[in-house]
Amino acid sequence: MDKWDDLAALICMECGGKCCIEAKPPLTRKRIETLCEFGCPHDTIDSRHYKKLRTNGDGYCVMYHEHRCSIHGIKPETCIAGPFTFDVRNNAIEIYLKKESICPLVRYIKERSDVYERQYTLACANISTLVQHLPAQELQEILRIDEPETEKVAEIPLMGPIKA
Ligand code: SF4
Repeated sequence: MDKWDDLAALICMECGGKCCIEAKPPLTRKRIETLCEFGCPHDTIDSRHYKKLRTNGDGYCVMYHEHRCSIHGIKPETCIAGPFTFDVRNNAIEIYLKKESICPLVRYIKERSDVYERQYTLACANISTLVQHLPAQELQEILRIDEPETEKVAEIPLMGPIKA
């Protein structure tokens, strides 16, 4: 971990992990296999509309424990990509960045071009992988979810056809 990772962990902890509330991160088949190998019980997965991690009664992701993500090393693609998020339109992936009003990390990322570039690259790679590996029907369900308080920052080509 470098100094930025330490700072980011602190900022997220101070924020209270708000992005883990009602996050419902989508899960590819491969991610489900990884979670199972890690020992996550199958009832942590909610299969309604699309496969995702379920939430607890308080709205937090089932993997959020003691003020942090309990599966940091194997967390889903959209969690790795944050505070970047995405949409798919006209055969392209649109990359969005959350606004500072909903994510305190954003101000720090914008102030450090090296950190921005690193996180942006990581986000694009993970979002591309996710889009490629999700069944088309599940992807359509995910794209219906409104994500207010975000701004479009880039558009990247789809790396291949969307899975049938
Ligand atoms: S997997 Fe981890 S980072 Fe992602 S929403 Fe759940 S607790 Fe948060």
